[in-house]
Amino acid sequence: MSFRKAVANAIPGRLVRVFAAPYVAGDSLEKGLAATDKLYQERRLMSTLDVLGEAEKTKDKVTKAVEVYHRALEALKERPYSTLSIKPGHFGYYVDPDFCYANIEGLAKACQSAGRGLTIDMEDTDLTDWTLATYKSLKPKYPVLGTVLQSRLYRTEKDIDMLDGLSAHIRLCIGIYNVPRSLAYTRKRDMKENLLKLLRKLVERGHYVCVGTHDTDYIAKARAILEEMKVPKDRCEFQMLLGVPRDAVQKQLVDAGYTMRLYVPFAEDWDDAIAYLRRRMVEGPSITALVLKNLLKRH
Ligand SMILES: Cc1cc2nc3c(=O)[nH]c(=O)nc-3n(C[C@H](O)[C@H](O)[C@H](O)COP(=O)(O)OP(=O)(O)OC[C@H]3O[C@@H](n4cnc5c(N)ncnc54)[C@H](O)[C@@H]3O)c2cc1C
Repeated sequence: MSFRKAVANAIPGRLVRVFAAPYVAGDSLEKGLAATDKLYQERRLMSTLDVLGEAEKTKDKVTKAVEVYHRALEALKERPYSTLSIKPGHFGYYVDPDFCYANIEGLAKACQSAGRGLTIDMEDTDLTDWTLATYKSLKPKYPVLGTVLQSRLYRTEKDIDMLDGLSAHIRLCIGIYNVPRSLAYTRKRDMKENLLKLLRKLVERGHYVCVGTHDTDYIAKARAILEEMKVPKDRCEFQMLLGVPRDAVQKQLVDAGYTMRLYVPFAEDWDDAIAYLRRRMVEGPSITALVLKNLLKRH
């Protein structure tokens, strides 16, 4: 972890920007929207837009971020192929959880009346309880609301019980944050096997499931489960991150009639994007490896 942190911090910002550019749609809402349009028009890929930024500590910054989301929603009214994704840390949790709740509810209400989906991303384990409680309390009022469950956490199986009766909209992924062995699986294989187990449970309980992984073996296994359990194609989808090269499998899924949605982050300011990308490099070795690989290729 400290090695990754040192590497992430040692790479100059302009290089982070160049090498990590595939993961970020650009430095304005317009660029984010242009990316969603292109994905849909050229490849029939749906998207979910994310404004980069996490763990904001001031009300002003949070209010600005929330405004960008409301502007994005206006633009999505003409784009039924896109939704929004938010992070509680970005929406003011660290300023005041009640302020954050009100910000999320304000956007959920606007999304509900526009008929556009809104997913509350799952951050680190200090936020799991709060995020799930917020989701549980808002979902009955705003059915367009979704959230995320992380299959690396042992607790997730029990958390699914808490969602009974909600007809929840769940993105299921292994989780990007490093979590200690006492709370979570630490081997990727275990996280992914648990993802399949949790997928079955979510389907049995009648929830809408979005399978968020780039692992082609596990995409095939998840697809086999969805087919074996006869899940209608309008009750599930696959999701990936913009920039991860998976064109062939995305096309196969689209051709088979599945919704394939890409997570499309954009920044209002490259400093935010660079900060985000550095954090991702610290949290996830895959992006560090990719940036290092690109550095080695170019120099
Ligand atoms: C749409 C979407 C939304 C997400 N939202 C959340 C969230 O709210 N909370 C959360 O904790 N996590 C979130 N994640 C991240 C997720 O939990 C995983 O950390 C991430 O998807 C990598 O896991 P994997 O299943 O793809 O498996 P991995 O084994 O990590 O990846 C499989 C292969 O995919 C490629 N790959 C994967 N990720 C990258 C990358 N970033 N860059 C380059 N190549 C890559 C690599 O070739 C890798 O070998 C999200 C993921 C997706 C797809």
